[in-house]
Amino acid sequence: VQLEKAKENIMPAQCPYCSVQCSMELTEERIVTRKRYKAKPNKQDPVSQGRLCIKGANAHQHVMTDERITSPLLKIDGEFSPISWELAIEYITEQFKAIQSVYGNDAVGVYGGGSLTNEEAYLLGKFARVAIKTKHIDYNGRFCMSAAASAGNAAFGIDRGLTNSLSEIPDAECIILAGTNIAECQPTIVPYFRQAKKNGAFIIVIDPRETATAKLADLHLQGKPGMDAYIANAILKVLIDEGYTDHHFIQQQTTGFAALTEQLKQLDLHELAACSGVSAEQLQLAAKKYGEAKTGFVFTARGVEQHANGYENVRQFINLVLASGKIGKHACGYGAITGQGNGQGGREHGQKADQLPGYRSIENEEHRNYIARIWGIDEADLPRKGVSAYELMEKAEQGELSAMFIMGSNPVVSNPNAVFVEKALKKLKFLVVVDMFLSETARLADIILPSSSYLEDEGTMTNLEGRVVLRKAERKPPGEAKHDWEILCSIAQALGKPEAFAFSSAEDIFNELRLASRGGIADYYGITYDRLKEEGVFWPCPEPQHPGTPRLFGSSFAHPDGKALFYPAQQPELNEAPASDYPLLLTTGRIMDHYLSGTQTRRSPDLQKRAKEPLLEIHPDTAVEFGIEDNALLQLRSRRGSTVIRSKITDTIRRDTIFAPFHWGDLQSINRVTNPVLDPVCRMPEFKVCSVTISPLIDK
Ligand code: SF4
Repeated sequence: VQLEKAKENIMPAQCPYCSVQCSMELTEERIVTRKRYKAKPNKQDPVSQGRLCIKGANAHQHVMTDERITSPLLKIDGEFSPISWELAIEYITEQFKAIQSVYGNDAVGVYGGGSLTNEEAYLLGKFARVAIKTKHIDYNGRFCMSAAASAGNAAFGIDRGLTNSLSEIPDAECIILAGTNIAECQPTIVPYFRQAKKNGAFIIVIDPRETATAKLADLHLQGKPGMDAYIANAILKVLIDEGYTDHHFIQQQTTGFAALTEQLKQLDLHELAACSGVSAEQLQLAAKKYGEAKTGFVFTARGVEQHANGYENVRQFINLVLASGKIGKHACGYGAITGQGNGQGGREHGQKADQLPGYRSIENEEHRNYIARIWGIDEADLPRKGVSAYELMEKAEQGELSAMFIMGSNPVVSNPNAVFVEKALKKLKFLVVVDMFLSETARLADIILPSSSYLEDEGTMTNLEGRVVLRKAERKPPGEAKHDWEILCSIAQALGKPEAFAFSSAEDIFNELRLASRGGIADYYGITYDRLKEEGVFWPCPEPQHPGTPRLFGSSFAHPDGKALFYPAQQPELNEAPASDYPLLLTTGRIMDHYLSGTQTRRSPDLQKRAKEPLLEIHPDTAVEFGIEDNALLQLRSRRGSTVIRSKITDTIRRDTIFAPFHWGDLQSINRVTNPVLDPVCRMPEFKVCSVTISPLIDK
């Protein structure tokens, strides 16, 4: 039998997952009625340079699954039934209006995500403030970048993930990677670090686990979780004591160093070492290597940032950069390695409680007037600052929020204290969820609106370097699924804002975003779709002729006096110290095969095959102490709840610490036990350390 010749359709695509935003070519091959897909990395990609990790190579699988939601679904008697878009929009607007007429505008909350495109993030912020007229909007990036963002803004006057492009990394002589597991979270950037090592760089990794990234290191500081500030302060103390600081730079370009020096003089290196769980000799070696290097980088990520003192932790690491003068020059800088695909852009355009587009402040009168003009409203009608992501859940639980609109996020799995969060969402009078799948959060909704995937959605993303790239749409959304921006425009128009939401394409929205960002910290005005069709552009880019800004702070910092600020040395206590009934420290993180709450990667058969369930890493001595065998189910308990998880005994973790990944929901959700106490500055929850206990699930 002669089979019909295979037909090929080649789609350029961009990975929907992490902040590297690797591009690829996805080939769809049709043989009779079967379709086969193959992802090939794009060799011309200036960032990934022809690399894809396992997640990117299999990303199309979740798009093609028959689990996609393809029409609006309304919950009737506890079961979802398909309805038309007309009915869905009418129902949503009626419910919002009814709730707001009784409880006020702020009774409706909006919750976004760091994987939305820049256009969607911008439009969601405008939707909340102009169409819903609520002050209550925040997003899951609160759990990702808020500590580094607030620290960068305070220290430098500007927050951009990396102060330099990745291409400068191979030229650095010393690199500190604090609380970042790039080998599993952003694998395609690892070759930049390998190349630096080949060129002679000394690499220091700070992590309570011997991760795949720690294996790259010349020096691994395996400190206690939650003690990063002690490590940073100890290194800084040695830098100062041993004369490794850059006096000229400190004098010309910073303020606050004298007071910090006085403080550090009072601290004892051996006491700092004992608290941190790292030896004084190792801390001295780290300081010597970083201090002696002529070039160098300090990178932080969630291990340092996801704490109730995450803001202060990051400031301590920025102190190192400033004291050594290693910033604003080739192969010298600081970077917060963003986690989510658009973690950078997602926080610049106004879906955060305290921000307006262009990184403007919602409490600054000049900023408010500028954005109100762009949006065609009176400044007095622009809501003020709302509360952070987890606090929205608290408001729901307390009955202060009656309805919520959630787009591109799965807060039931990704928030701390997940049992409480689920209870809070169930208390709402009305919940709308926009998603591709029946996620753990979507299941709780009164109405679900089907959205499009990365292959179907045009828009811009801003990668971890601050490089804006264009993602093109290569296929139509399935069934009646729509683009997020179309959904927002339809609801806003039905709520009486037809002119403010009369957009006809993602590019149309981007052009308004450009204007809204003009003159702000994150200035995109000079970036156009036409330019992005050729290559990515680094912000700030204030004019169309401007080349973009791959390296920041060449001549001055962004504060009005042009100087960067040191921060006082802090030695925080653990928020939840080990106690007799909860003697172990739990820390959480990502693994290579999954992404965030797993909504997409758990629906990718090849990824799910590689990591079917979460595994709890336990040191062999700890396992003996608690009677835990390898590969056995156990119960993990904290003061807030419990979860069931399988053990993985490994000597790559500290004896006092256990580790679990956070990509699973329901009873396997590790966030059922994590601690929701918030950082007073940035409102980041204490994800990375809480006290717990473990016991075998079945007593023998
Ligand atoms: Fe690249 Fe990140 Fe996607 Fe992996 S997950 S392919 S590193 S963008």
